[in-house]
Amino acid sequence: MSNNTTSPSPILTDYQPGILFLEEGIKEYSLAQEVISRLPEVPQQEFRDISTLTEQMRSSQYDVFGEGKKRLALCRFKGSFLKKCPGVSPGMVCCNYYVVNLSKNCIYDCSYCFLQDFLGNNPMQVAYVNVEDLLGELEEVFTQYPDRKFRVGTGELTDSLALDAIVPYTAYLLPFFNQQSNAVLELKTKSDQIANLLDHSDPTNIIVSWSLNPQTVIDREEKGTPGLVQRLESAKACLDKGYRIGFHFDPIILIPGWEDAYQQLVNILCDTIPIAKVEWVSLGSFRYRPTLKTIIKNRHPETRLFTSEHLPSKDGKFRYLRPLRNHAYETIRGYLKSRSEKLSIYLCMETREIWEDVTGKTPRSDKKLDQFFDL
Ligand code: SF4
Repeated sequence: MSNNTTSPSPILTDYQPGILFLEEGIKEYSLAQEVISRLPEVPQQEFRDISTLTEQMRSSQYDVFGEGKKRLALCRFKGSFLKKCPGVSPGMVCCNYYVVNLSKNCIYDCSYCFLQDFLGNNPMQVAYVNVEDLLGELEEVFTQYPDRKFRVGTGELTDSLALDAIVPYTAYLLPFFNQQSNAVLELKTKSDQIANLLDHSDPTNIIVSWSLNPQTVIDREEKGTPGLVQRLESAKACLDKGYRIGFHFDPIILIPGWEDAYQQLVNILCDTIPIAKVEWVSLGSFRYRPTLKTIIKNRHPETRLFTSEHLPSKDGKFRYLRPLRNHAYETIRGYLKSRSEKLSIYLCMETREIWEDVTGKTPRSDKKLDQFFDL
């Protein structure tokens, strides 16, 4: 059962899938050719229907979601890539964010990851390689609405950079977003896979953001991910290269002694990164749909996610009780503000009431945050 120490799991910096599944006809795409050339040793298998592959995996494996991470399927995405962030849920404040889902599942294995439940019957790690279709769609939408500002993220159903050494989406996305007048790209990550970013000459319209947690939380709850110091060193290298950077303290997990742990996190952050150059820090507390809890307990028996009480919010997700969330946000916000009064701090997936309790304002009444949301 759980105790206070845990051995960190190996970091997946040199991840390679055990098998590469190729949808019929996929080799005509240049990104598919590139992925194949980067994985010369990995066995390949063609397929027509991904559900057949998933069924095979399901019948032979106990942890189907975990098995999905060990495989990689290259596919063509047939729908519309761009959609509004699902943060627009009942009672939650929206931060004007769009997502494109270029891949699904992730090489890391965070205990709290909602994908364990969300991907349900389709846990195979998938990378869509028809990036040309995505760029065509974005171009059309951005041109159609020249007065609207688009803030686009790729990290909703995956980590934006973890696979970038194998599936180099940034080689396509960065030059495209460099040219846009009404859009920025946000790459959200826990990884240190920044080589393609450092090789690229133009940081215009690109924001790279790292999810951070105290190292003790990383060790227990964020399996396979680079440690705090590696994430911050990657952030520093990107900042030095001219990229705008941000941080997400999300999910904040209220382990015993969380005050000290998050104080140390803020200290390490501010000692490594010139905090005045950080675009923003977002705060979000651990939240989950009820169906996720059993999966987490089965897949991560050592977790400390459920040591506190949680209650359902207006959007149906369970969260820490409101006074505790308020206290945590106020405390951590205080640590950050004591290092930089001007730092922009916003709350992620939170109610208007919590915004008001913590910041004394609603987001749209604050000029700086309003500008941020309208970036
Ligand atoms: S890095 Fe993000 S997508 Fe990957 S396992 Fe962790 S929470 Fe899930």
